[in-house]
Amino acid sequence: MSFNKTLFEDFVGSLGLNFFNANELLVGRYRPDNGPPPLTLWHNIVPTILILDHLREHLGVGVKLISAYRTEAYNDPSKNAGRAPLSQHQAFTAIDFRVTGMKPDAIVPILRGWENKEWFWSPIDFQRKPVKVSKGNIPFGEMPRKVSAGVLGCWFTFRGFVKPYMKHNFTHLDTRGVLAGEDDDGE
Ligand SMILES: [Zn+2]
Repeated sequence: MSFNKTLFEDFVGSLGLNFFNANELLVGRYRPDNGPPPLTLWHNIVPTILILDHLREHLGVGVKLISAYRTEAYNDPSKNAGRAPLSQHQAFTAIDFRVTGMKPDAIVPILRGWENKEWFWSPIDFQRKPVKVSKGNIPFGEMPRKVSAGVLGCWFTFRGFVKPYMKHNFTHLDTRGVLAGEDDDGE
């Protein structure tokens, strides 16, 4: 299926983000073997980008997205050392990002402090889908949320994985919907 950029922009617009746009969420789209996220996975990124929007407001400094969706071909660990075969990026639930003037080990405790505790508002009642790649099923679970009858959107808190990559100065956040272990490399 071809990628409909206008539809993607409308979708991102429906999230009411204050700090990020559709082009930023498409970061890496043109890297060799990569591509845009398939329509069926768009809702998967909703909690992740809403949390980053909240983080950006909380910090008051720039947040640059450096990797979001990855095709299985682009994510291939044999071509890109350090990538996990079941990386959440293939499910479009993960974003790697860099914060102006702050190291990843200063960012991680903030996000972990919010995990499974802080409630975030989503203007859409997102419907997420699990993803299977050739190496198996990417870990996936539903997020805790609260909906009100007659009200669009939902409150959610998240379960996922946050990891600092000090050498290359970025932080990985995914909202896989299940709590991840410390040794579970989500990159
Ligand atoms: Zn990552």
